[in-house]
Amino acid sequence: MNPTYQRALRAAYPRLLGTAPIGIGDGWYSLARDMLDPLDEECRTMPEVERPTVEAIEQKYGSLRVHLTNSTPELEHILFKAEEQSETTCEKCGKPGLLRQDEMWWVTLCHVCARERAEKALWCISNYPWLAMLAAWRTKAKSLDGRACHELYLSATLTDSGILNSEERELMNMLQIGDDVDPSFERLLTEPDKLRAALDEVLTGPLDKFMAEIREIREKREREDNK
Ligand SMILES: [Zn+2]
Repeated sequence: MNPTYQRALRAAYPRLLGTAPIGIGDGWYSLARDMLDPLDEECRTMPEVERPTVEAIEQKYGSLRVHLTNSTPELEHILFKAEEQSETTCEKCGKPGLLRQDEMWWVTLCHVCARERAEKALWCISNYPWLAMLAAWRTKAKSLDGRACHELYLSATLTDSGILNSEERELMNMLQIGDDVDPSFERLLTEPDKLRAALDEVLTGPLDKFMAEIREIREKREREDNK
């Protein structure tokens, strides 16, 4: 959180916050204020020796977490409400957001901030079968930044949603690759040996199983086309 926001929070709740670390994004500033207000008020109803202070405000698993020196059900209720709200509030800009998972972290971001983050991040190609196929023709890199992934997804002309796992769907979602983009399987599958050699270099998983799945999808499609 930027220093101006941090100073404003500490000035508004000096007893409660003290010098406790505040490790959240600017987008949650209002949320933090809305939580600290009733928290401070509730603390004032307690005997002075029992009043807790904040140990830390942080982001964990994509949501707002507050650690108190001691707590009560009333205080926990206030913290829980803020935690819940943070899961639908972009931590970066404060607009409505979604709790999302990228390769390592849970984050709550709006679609604009999610795309920005996804474009800057590095993505390990072998985790995304469809991306791996598209990349196999063009690069030997093991990971690519989101901009390059975006280009690759757009370079294809027909998507086979049957091959996409949930991680890959989420990546495509973050990069805002719509259902209207249809990467072409058939084009890649016209030269299976070349495809196999290329995939060997980028895929670390069981390639035979992967190829069998692709064959199955293609055969199913052919059967449907022939009906
Ligand atoms: Zn945002």
